[in-house]
Amino acid sequence: MQLAVTAKHMPYRPYTNLLPSSDDIWQYVTDMITDWNLSSYIRLSHEVLDAQWKGTSTAGRWALRVHDKTKDVITEAAYDHLFVAVGPDHYPNEPHFEGREMWEHSGIKRQIYHSIYYRSPDVFQGKNVLVVGAGPSGVDIVSRIVDIANSVRFLWIWIMRILTLSKTYISVKPVAIPELSGNIVEGVHVKPVIERFTSNSIVFTDNTSLTHIDTVILATGYKFIIPFLTAGGYLEETSNISRLPDDRTLRTNTRYIWPLWQHMLSLDPRYPLGSLYFMSIPIITPAMYCGIVQTLFALHTIADPSLLQSRDTFFSHLLAQEDRLRAKGFDPDKYGHSVYLNQGSNAYYDEVVGYLQERGLGGMPEIPPLGQNYSDSWRVIDMPHIFSVVVNWLKVESRGEDVVRQWLEGVETEDQWVALMDKLFDLGEEGI
Ligand SMILES: Cc1cc2nc3c(=O)[nH]c(=O)nc-3n(C[C@H](O)[C@H](O)[C@H](O)COP(=O)(O)OP(=O)(O)OC[C@H]3O[C@@H](n4cnc5c(N)ncnc54)[C@H](O)[C@@H]3O)c2cc1C
Repeated sequence: MQLAVTAKHMPYRPYTNLLPSSDDIWQYVTDMITDWNLSSYIRLSHEVLDAQWKGTSTAGRWALRVHDKTKDVITEAAYDHLFVAVGPDHYPNEPHFEGREMWEHSGIKRQIYHSIYYRSPDVFQGKNVLVVGAGPSGVDIVSRIVDIANSVRFLWIWIMRILTLSKTYISVKPVAIPELSGNIVEGVHVKPVIERFTSNSIVFTDNTSLTHIDTVILATGYKFIIPFLTAGGYLEETSNISRLPDDRTLRTNTRYIWPLWQHMLSLDPRYPLGSLYFMSIPIITPAMYCGIVQTLFALHTIADPSLLQSRDTFFSHLLAQEDRLRAKGFDPDKYGHSVYLNQGSNAYYDEVVGYLQERGLGGMPEIPPLGQNYSDSWRVIDMPHIFSVVVNWLKVESRGEDVVRQWLEGVETEDQWVALMDKLFDLGEEGI
């Protein structure tokens, strides 16, 4: 929903669909760059190749090598502070499957690829497709191709409703975030987890197999890796976070980057606190809002480093947060960056801004006075609420362009968008 992913008090343009398209999102970001005069600071097609700290634990600079792809030249530059904002969905995670290559090369036009390479449903005309994984990408893809492909078989990891009259399959497996279940994809059969591939079939853990699949799409998520930090020796990729008492150097097991205070401030002792910040790592959290909150923290602490507590104090806070997650039954090594499972997204924003408020910054631009939450109350809504609004909006859409425009008539300010969502929610299951 568009408003959930906006910056504060910056709604989308009037008449933008409540469920914005990628073009709408592009427009929103472009408007933001124009309104905030940012274009002169942006270097497109420049890739950071590696970053190395040149200095000590108390002083120094980040030395970056950057590839200018337009001119094909590599430049070097040094910076006091480094913000890593490469996004959580950049490096595909592909599980290892025994026999995958044998299956792929034994049939004509068989293919397996990650959902990051999915572009359009049209190419699935007449194909038999197996989508692996039922996260947002998996759900999104099956819902788009189910009517186009011959049959879509879907490895389902959430609790789903099985619909009749379909040729497709769906599997049920306990999940970390049951509240997110309930997505409905009609016409999809359920299959359990893949056990292995053979030259002519895909075998599942229930000993069933499928022999006629042409395409397997791995909607299996992304890896939290930052190759340019790893290349410079400042982020170890490891299978085990292994919290050794004397070793707090930065590492990732591809799901969790450790040790970071509030998912953004590196506690690695090789450089001063405040030298390396990460943006928008928390998952199932609107990235735009999250990034702005984290930027508030980062910029204020860069401007005044005395705002930063000691590394040990931040470290104790991190351990306490991990303990809180464990107490809820979630392994921090897997779910450490899910603020949704921990304190919740809005509580997270309030904690980060609260840190600044408690240090006398309440009332500064964008920071409410001490005692007042940063998160707008309308953002504190639960998943069933969101689904209800979405379902009713889809009903509005199904009535055609004119009805959509009537609903969007005069909706311009953030308050008016919120009122629109409230109205959709109040319609309840009856809908429009
Ligand atoms: C299929 C899909 C659907 C989604 N749907 C939604 C949704 O409906 N609502 C929602 O809120 N979120 C959604 N998300 C999540 C959302 O896209 C991300 O949360 C958001 O894009 C993160 O923003 P970001 O700026 O942190 O990272 P990104 O948007 O990923 O931007 C990171 C940028 O860093 C660049 N970069 C990476 N490495 C380097 C390097 N070495 N040097 C220079 N640049 C580099 C990348 O090229 C990229 O331009 C979806 C994600 C996916 C994959």
